[in-house]
Amino acid sequence: MPDPTRRPLPRIIAVTNQKGGVGKTTTTINLGAALVELGKRVLLVDLDPQGNASTGLGVDDRKATTYDLLLEDTLLSDVVHRTDIEGLFISPATTDLSSADMEMVALEKRSHLLHDALRQPAIDDYALDYILIDCPPSLNLLTVNAMVAADAVLVPLQCEFFALEGLSQLMLTIREVRQTANPKLRIEGVALTMYDARNNLTLQVEDDTRQTLGDLVFKTVIPRNVRVSEAPSFAMPVLNYDPNSRGAKAYRALAREVATRGKN
Ligand code: ADP
Ligand code: MG
Repeated sequence: MPDPTRRPLPRIIAVTNQKGGVGKTTTTINLGAALVELGKRVLLVDLDPQGNASTGLGVDDRKATTYDLLLEDTLLSDVVHRTDIEGLFISPATTDLSSADMEMVALEKRSHLLHDALRQPAIDDYALDYILIDCPPSLNLLTVNAMVAADAVLVPLQCEFFALEGLSQLMLTIREVRQTANPKLRIEGVALTMYDARNNLTLQVEDDTRQTLGDLVFKTVIPRNVRVSEAPSFAMPVLNYDPNSRGAKAYRALAREVATRGKN
């Protein structure tokens, strides 16, 4: 019986692709900010030892981090920070996380650590609608933890040669997680990032991806836009840094697609 005193769990989406530099962190931050603009409350979980999502939002205080959440049984309230944006929260990361993978291997619950941490009763206090997990560029145990914790996986795909190459490996990992630990894991969608409509290669990658994956590919594409890449150095999502930029508009459109998909 579900406990009637508990809030329904937020929708948990793992933003993942084992390739680096494809737009995972950018998508996590800006999709999060765009969902907040839609009136949602959102927690970002920085699960990458590089901590780019934390830096990109200007989180300097990282005494307690996602590492502690996973391996030290630290309370959510000690790890989760507010950001400058009302309704947007973050569990920050530091290079500590780079050893987490090895330390987790020895534990019996190694794949469920994030799942369990995000289900602490205190999660209710944040009244969240979404949790977005910024995954590391690897299919390691951290990423498996994200997939076990999540309802769905969102895959940013950079419009470049070999873009589809790594996707089959990612799909295999998703299938494995479904078979072992999380049968309900869905693919939220594939988001084409750094899209340049003047570039034939972009159009070719889009064509191939839509033919192969059909409706799994979001209608919204994220254009290559210099404002998007500038925003993190001002510790802001592009939605706040330049609200009328093409990048900001695209992430708002993506958020609307995510919000409607979740209802199906
Ligand atoms: P990942 O997290 O997958 O490693 P990032 O989100 O850090 O990828 O993006 C890699 C680089 O590309 C960063 O320097 C980022 O600022 C830049 N970038 C990401 N998306 C865009 C975009 N739409 N337009 C321009 N630059 C982008
Ligand atoms: Mg990243």
